[in-house]
Amino acid sequence: FVFTLMVLKSHFSQKYPPVKFLSEKDRKRILITGGAGFVGSHLTDKLMMDGHELTVVDNFFTGRKRNVEHWIGHENFELINHDVVEPLYIEVDQIYHLASPASPPNYMYNPIKTLKTNTIGTLNMLGLAKRVGARLLLASTSEVYGDPEVHPQNEDYWGHVNPIGPRACYDEGKRVAETMCYAYMKQEGVEVRVARIFNTFGSRMHMNDGRVVSNFILQALQGEPLTVSLFFFFFFFCSDLVNGLVLLMNSNISSPVNLVMSRSQIQFLSEAQDDPQRRRPDIRKAKMMLGWEPVVPLEEGLNKTIQYFSRELEHQANNQYI
Ligand code: NAD
Ligand code: UDP
Repeated sequence: FVFTLMVLKSHFSQKYPPVKFLSEKDRKRILITGGAGFVGSHLTDKLMMDGHELTVVDNFFTGRKRNVEHWIGHENFELINHDVVEPLYIEVDQIYHLASPASPPNYMYNPIKTLKTNTIGTLNMLGLAKRVGARLLLASTSEVYGDPEVHPQNEDYWGHVNPIGPRACYDEGKRVAETMCYAYMKQEGVEVRVARIFNTFGSRMHMNDGRVVSNFILQALQGEPLTVSLFFFFFFFCSDLVNGLVLLMNSNISSPVNLVMSRSQIQFLSEAQDDPQRRRPDIRKAKMMLGWEPVVPLEEGLNKTIQYFSRELEHQANNQYI
């Protein structure tokens, strides 16, 4: 009778998204730094639903609790308000290291903090990985290629970055973060994975990040004229990215891998200083070695993102007088 009651209770009080059951041997303890951000919260959803034990560490600089609130209270989930610039002592098997502001207005807001997060923060997470024997995946960026002089960019290209320009705190911060990963790999035997991520869009992205997809959608929803452009950029949808990150983490590829969409292009308006004029990624490595390819059509991704933006605008309108 008690058992029936418990089953009924868990059935009716189920307030979480469905979670797979994983046996002890397949279940991993996973840390996601920056897990309350745009990409991190989608990664949290995937790994939670796959049945793993998650610790999300975030200082809520650009992320927010709302992105992961649907997991709060779940026995496999823990959210820690912590800045990765400070040491962190926990026990985990894998670390997805995403903590870093990602869009130009965010990372240029406090360049010194951006540098600290990407350098000291990454050092701390590598120190943690070394101590507990965890594998670490760094969310790096296509910005390590800077304003490229070769097209398309494959992973062997060393990049063309202005070390003292306004974007240097991010670009050089990520370049040092990559350097640190390989120093820890060579010197300390830490297992590392490096994903060079290209522009991504989807729900929970920042509406005012000033980038092309969010600008277009906001302009369209608010009935403003759409700005048209000179340059090409490639965007891909967050669910494709998250699948790519998990595949890479669990692969045996320790060298950097470009993760991006190959087909959809969006024209881009940009006059910001040091903005790369042209970028065309080469994703043959991810295709060949991970068997990974983006599958979400641009139109479907855009539709989902537009729906999210409409809901957010409505939410903001309803809450502005509270
Ligand atoms: P985001 O800003 O939404 O998420 C970053 C998260 O990190 C936020 O939740 C923020 O609060 C947290 N954070 C920042 N500094 C921190 C610190 N010192 N300590 C703890 N937490 C901290 O950005 P995103 O788009 O989800 O990007 C995630 C990662 O992917 C970043 O490392 C970014 O550089 C990389 N990336 C993203 C894109 C993209 O198009 N979104 C492209 C290339 C690389
Ligand atoms: N560190 C951490 N968590 C750990 C282990 C280390 O945050 O579980 C930090 C530690 O504070 C140090 C950094 O990671 O600043 C690098 O650690 P490492 O062991 O490589 O260097 P050391 O402590 O020997 O200087």
